This record gives sequence, structure tokens and C-alpha cells, in this order.
Amino acid sequence: MATGKIEKVSGPLVVATGLTGAKMYEVVRVGEEQLFGEIIEVRSGRYSIQVYEDTGGLGPGAPVTATGAPLSVELGPGLMTGIYDGIQRPLEVVRAKFGDFISRGANVPALDRAKKWRFIPTVHDGQQVSPGDVLGTVQETPIFLHKIMVPPGITGKAVGFVEAEKNVETPVGLIETDHGQVEVRMMQLWPVRQGRPFVRRLPPEVPLVTGQRVIDMFFPLAKGGTACVPGPFGSGKTVVQHQLAKWADVDVVVYVGCGERGNEMTDVLMEMPELKDPRSGRPLIERTTLVANTSNMPVAAREASVFTGITMAEYFRDMGYNVALMADSSSRWAEAMREISGRLEEMPGEEGYPAYLASRIAAFYERAGRTVCLGADAREGTLSLIGAVSPPGGDLSDPVVQATLRVVKVFWGLDDALAAQRHFPAINWLNSYSLYLDTTELAAAGGVDKLWPEFRSEAMGLLQREAELDELVRLVGVDALPAGDRLVMQGAKMIREDFLHQNAFDPIDTFSSHRKQFLMLRNIILFYRHARKAFEAGAEVGEIAKLPALELVARAKLIEEKNLGEFEIILKRLYHELDELAVAGEAAGSEDGQ
Ligand code: ADP
Repeated sequence: MATGKIEKVSGPLVVATGLTGAKMYEVVRVGEEQLFGEIIEVRSGRYSIQVYEDTGGLGPGAPVTATGAPLSVELGPGLMTGIYDGIQRPLEVVRAKFGDFISRGANVPALDRAKKWRFIPTVHDGQQVSPGDVLGTVQETPIFLHKIMVPPGITGKAVGFVEAEKNVETPVGLIETDHGQVEVRMMQLWPVRQGRPFVRRLPPEVPLVTGQRVIDMFFPLAKGGTACVPGPFGSGKTVVQHQLAKWADVDVVVYVGCGERGNEMTDVLMEMPELKDPRSGRPLIERTTLVANTSNMPVAAREASVFTGITMAEYFRDMGYNVALMADSSSRWAEAMREISGRLEEMPGEEGYPAYLASRIAAFYERAGRTVCLGADAREGTLSLIGAVSPPGGDLSDPVVQATLRVVKVFWGLDDALAAQRHFPAINWLNSYSLYLDTTELAAAGGVDKLWPEFRSEAMGLLQREAELDELVRLVGVDALPAGDRLVMQGAKMIREDFLHQNAFDPIDTFSSHRKQFLMLRNIILFYRHARKAFEAGAEVGEIAKLPALELVARAKLIEEKNLGEFEIILKRLYHELDELAVAGEAAGSEDGQ
């Protein structure tokens, strides 16, 4: 392997010469301590290397050795429950908690070599296999079945796959190819900067149910889709993320954290392993992989962490699973790109970000999708990406936010003003959007759910009208509004308080099935329509707002999934009480007329 020398050191960037033959994105070892680095620019014999560890103490003349390999991750049993740094070194939670970091140059493999896994074959001897075919499985955790797949590029006859306890490096069988035998291990390597192959893309039109009403009914995400969520401090971002991790109907969660302040990441490292998977009752971490960068780690590792995370996520997708990757925050990632670009003395673009900021962000989100995976069973896998952004001062015109919004299809506008009013989840219904509305057919589409788009747009209309009226109310007070507008305000209030507001900490309210969400929305909209008629028939808005059945609408959040029939009873009560008001109103109206 080529060995060169450091010419200069500039923060996380090292320029070396003499690495003849080394390629872009090749991993190199820098200095006596063998720090981990990656070649990111080659220009007339000078190699710019981003170093994933603290470069303190390095100086001109120190050796740099090329490894011949691109930056890769290890894929195999052991990823679940794993907590890794940006270059996939396992981080011990305890150590991170105490601010103690892996020593420099440490060569710690991602997957534990000592650990043995029970491999159960799913192929028989002599079976013809090709890339992506499942050779066997490993029950990696009680809630995650790891599939051992034929690595890309290998086709032939499976030989000798038998049930056995092995570590990830010991062969579990052979594939006889035209060019000889290839040993298959439970672990494979994959270069992080290269997307993993699949057969073809499918349109992302299956909803990713999260159980969070404002998301599923108003701004839904599709499986294999992309979303962006800004996270002003205290806006409930952590709670939203936890809710998604716990409730989204995915098999695997990959969380990539790039914290600004050290303690932000420490919180995640402490909290995530504590979360419970509500469906299985098991620790959620048993189907989660974490990639964590604290602020004390060099920026270059942050840049890599996003790729490390997404490569692992793609690997799980390839098994035919639904995977969600959350990147928090992608602004930190972009800042790392800016710093490295500055040190490379590249021409800066907007706000000092490199000109390729937008294309890098787009390339990242492009790795999301719903795909037919490699393998004879043509299984389907999805990878959904949810990127948090944290623009300085919450300014949404920030280049990272703008570049992200150009590529993602969903925006959940977390809003600190709503959080200040204790409206949670604080997703602003006026500026959020989802471009999956047309494509997501509701999973639970039983007859009446066809009305969902209609009810949704009616609800949105009421909320928008409320926002306009709010201006007036501020000037003249609510009593000065015409009665019809007061009825609009009443309808909108019910949508906000009795539907959108959702308490993550209530054991029932924390999750609503699609069906329940729909019934909640339906009752409010049908009530509103009927109330309009009653109002036109002479009922007083003040009286409508005081109907006893409205109390039932307010408490409908707490109806258990097994009792959804109660929604029909409530609707009947609403209709009945409104009809009585209308009759009384008509009678009063005709008396007045006498
Ligand atoms: P951030 O991460 O944006 O700083 P958090 O997610 O920690 O904010 O939320 C701050 C507080 O807001 C929480 O401790 C909780 O009291 C409240 N909160 C946020 N979301 C919800 C929710 N969906 N239901 C109930 N309370 C919430």
C-alpha cells in the first residue's frame, strides 16, 4: 500500500503527498497513531484527507498509509441495540455519558467477533442462489429476525449451509460459482458512499401509519417517503421523534444524531435505550440502531455518520423490512460539509455552504424509497427518511432548510408558538404539507374512509378560516363576529383541541389507529355540517357551543380501540341535540314572527 507524508494540517483536514495510486474516498491511516481518514480530494499529487479523529499533535512529515479500501460499514448480526460513532465504532453508552471517548486510532470493529449467533439455514444443498436470496436467518433479538443474504455479485449453488452457532467471521456455507467457491459469512462489508442495489423502485403509496393524528390524517408520510421537521428548542421535537420511533409501523429504526451541544446527544443516548416498544413490550433498542456524534467529535465524523446510518438502513431494507431513518439534525451535517469545504478552499455558495450542498442533500434523500429487493422472492422493502433541521434562529429561509424542502415530500412545521400554548404535537397546520396526499390510499380503507380526503380538506378549510378570523378577533373581540363566523371558530376549535391535540403521555391517547383517527375527524366534521343546518334553522351559536354531547367529542380521544362503536353513539347524540336546538330555534323564530 502506498505510504505518503503529511504536508499540512488544517483542523480535521490533512493534506498529504506521495500516496501514489490512492483513490478518492479511500480510507487512509494518518500519523503514528494511525488515525482514521478518508481521501476527499486528489489534485495534482496532493491528497486532501478528512480525518475522523482529533488531529491534535499531527504535523508535517508524519506518515500516511493508504488502505486500498473505501470507507465501509460492517453489516451483519449485532447491529441491533448497537450504538455507534460516525464511522461505526461501537460507543458504550456509559462512556459517552461520562464524556469519555474512544482513544485515538482505536481499531474497534463494529460487530462483536466473539459473539456467536445461531444460524438457521433456509436453503437446501445444491440450491441455485443469486444476490439477495436469503440463505438463512438469525434471531438477533426477540423482536428482530436478521436475514443472511447472498452478497451482491455472487451467483451459484449453495453448499453446506447447516444450523450452527458461529461468529460473524466464520463461514456458514459456500456458494459454488462459475469461478470457484465463495465462502459466505454472516457479515458483509459495504462502502457507505454507494447506495445498496435493488431491483426497482415502486411508487411510495402505502401510508406509514404513525398513530399521530396530525401526521396521519393531515400530513401523512408514505412508506419509503421523505420528511423534514424543523426543531426549534422546546417545540416538542424529542417527543415527536420518540413517538415516531415507538409507533411508526416500521420494523427497524435507525437514528443518526449529530448533536450540537455534547449533552444533547447524551440525552438521546440515555433516553433511546430506555424506550419501550409498545407493541411487543420489549426494549425498542432491540429493533433500533443508533449512530451518535457528540460535539466533541471532529466534524468529519459527522459528515460520515449520515452515510454510515443510511447504509445500515438500506441493508435492513434489503431484508424486506420497513425501515425508518431519522437524522437529527441534518443542519449539523451540512455545517460539517461547510467546514470541510472551507478548508479545501472551495468556492463558497450561499451562507458559506459549498455549492454542492443541494446536490448532496438531494443525493441523501434519494436513498429513500419503496423498492423491490434483490432476491428470488421479490420481497418489498421500504426506507423512509425523516430529517430534522435546526436553522439558526429558526429561520426557514436558511439554505439547508431550503435545499431540504426542495427534495422532501413532507414538511412538519414544528412551531414554538404552539408549544408555548401547550398545543402538542406542535405541528403547525398552516405551514405544514404532505405531497403524499394523492398517493396514500388509507391502509384501513373500509368504505367510509373514502371520505377522508373530503373531511380533511373541510377541516383544513375551517382552520384556515379561523386563522383569518383570528386577526379580526384580536381587533374587535370574538363577540363582535357575525354568528356564522363564530360557528366557524367553534368548529376549528374542536378540530384543534379535540382532534389535533394529542397527549403523548396518555396511555390511550398516545396512539390512535387510522380507523379511530378517521372516526374522530368524521364526528367533528359531521357535527359541524349539521350545526350549520341547525344554525340556519335558527339555533343560536352560543347554544350549539354548549351542547352536552360536545363533552363526549372532547373525551373521544380516550375511547379505546376496542370500543370504536362509541363513535356512532356520540354522533347520534350530537345529531339529536342539534335537531332539538333547531326545532326550538324554529319555534322561537316563528313566535318572534307573530
Ligand atoms: P424539544 O426536544 O423540542 O426541546 P421536547 O420534545 O423535550 O422539546 O418537549 C418539551 C416538553 O413539551 C415535553 O417535556 C412535554 O412536556 C411537552 N410535550 C411535547 N410534545 C408533547 C406531546 N405530544 N404531548 C404532551 N406533551 C408534550
